[in-house]
Amino acid sequence: MTVNLFDFDLDGLTAFCEQLGEKRFRAVQLFRWIHQKGESDFSRMTDLARSLREKLPSAATLNTLPVLSRQDSADGTIKWLFDVGGGNAVESVFIPEDDRGTLCVSSQAGCAVGCRFCSTGHQGFSRNLTTGEILAQLWQAEFFLRQHLKRTDRVITNVVMMGMGEPLQNYSALVPALRVMLDDHGYGLSRRRVTVSTSGVVPMMDRLAQDCPVALAVSLHAPNDPLRDQLVPLNRKYPLAELLDACVRYLPHAPRDFITFEYCMLDGVNDTPEHARELLHLVKTHGGRGVPCKINLIPFNPFPDSGLKCSPRAVVQRFGQILNEGGVVTTIRKTRGDDIDAACGQLAGDVLDRTNAAQRMAQRREAPIRIIRPERPA
Ligand code: SAH
Ligand code: SF4
Repeated sequence: MTVNLFDFDLDGLTAFCEQLGEKRFRAVQLFRWIHQKGESDFSRMTDLARSLREKLPSAATLNTLPVLSRQDSADGTIKWLFDVGGGNAVESVFIPEDDRGTLCVSSQAGCAVGCRFCSTGHQGFSRNLTTGEILAQLWQAEFFLRQHLKRTDRVITNVVMMGMGEPLQNYSALVPALRVMLDDHGYGLSRRRVTVSTSGVVPMMDRLAQDCPVALAVSLHAPNDPLRDQLVPLNRKYPLAELLDACVRYLPHAPRDFITFEYCMLDGVNDTPEHARELLHLVKTHGGRGVPCKINLIPFNPFPDSGLKCSPRAVVQRFGQILNEGGVVTTIRKTRGDDIDAACGQLAGDVLDRTNAAQRMAQRREAPIRIIRPERPA
């Protein structure tokens, strides 16, 4: 049986090398060949002991993901659709900016949370990705980009776990992948340049704080429980008060002194000035001291059959203005790569295994979203 070396963080690789009778420093060399130099041919890892080079081909592989398609946007955004077998595909998106290059990485094929406004959620859940599948997205994107852009230095400087899936519902595969991203012998990214985005899996937020405290983004989308229950069904299990408590507990461990709240702007659903004021009140007063945070307003990216529309530009701006004037730094996310459907929530329109998707869509059509007027904050 061969193992996939993309499945290992450095400790895992060390244990594997020890099984082959090799010392830790050999594991470090091998790890650097893979993640720093992008080498996948063991015979070309010239400074590895010959004994190890000879043992590796029969003991290990580096499983890359077949690329089903690659699309390049006019704005430099690149989207890959990767085949993960069994009729499933996941996407990764590279977003270049002046001072950084961000890769948006998927953690699951589909997603079980089923948010009302998310195309991944509408497709249902197929399966968790392995650590190797999460890291293969990064490895393949990074070393493709170095070649494509004729660069020898690192191209991807930031990773956001904001592709398909809920990363904190795939915790055991996620954490070793994060460790490889952070490892100085791996990608060497600082903790503030790796962001896990979650819809609010409270117990796993506490574990992440202990195991691998990277930057945290929390998908809020509503300022009260009745509305959030409808938009993010996980809210019924972990309501806002518990979620915000978990944010407060996370902060002392976090690499930044704030949490980023994401808020998808949905026309006539969660976008009124009253919602903005209720949100402001919530984050400023929760638990007595509030939650230090920044808010990122995401214009909703429509997809077929969503039955939802993005809030008009002026409404998004007014919403942001209320928050900013109330003292909470709020930005409006630029939409990137929308000519190739690479914007948030448009990912993997092409997933093939649509587990229960038809049934879920039918249920949604029967239960149209109710618009709940928020209480005016005191
Ligand atoms: N499951 C995690 C991470 C993946 S989704 C989470 O929910 O946080 C990444 C971000 O894209 C989330 O903030 C999500 O709410 C947002 N998103 C999903 N669908 C969207 C859409 N159609 N338009 C805009 N943002 C969307
Ligand atoms: Fe899953 Fe995130 Fe989409 Fe919600 S927004 S369905 S948690 S991927």
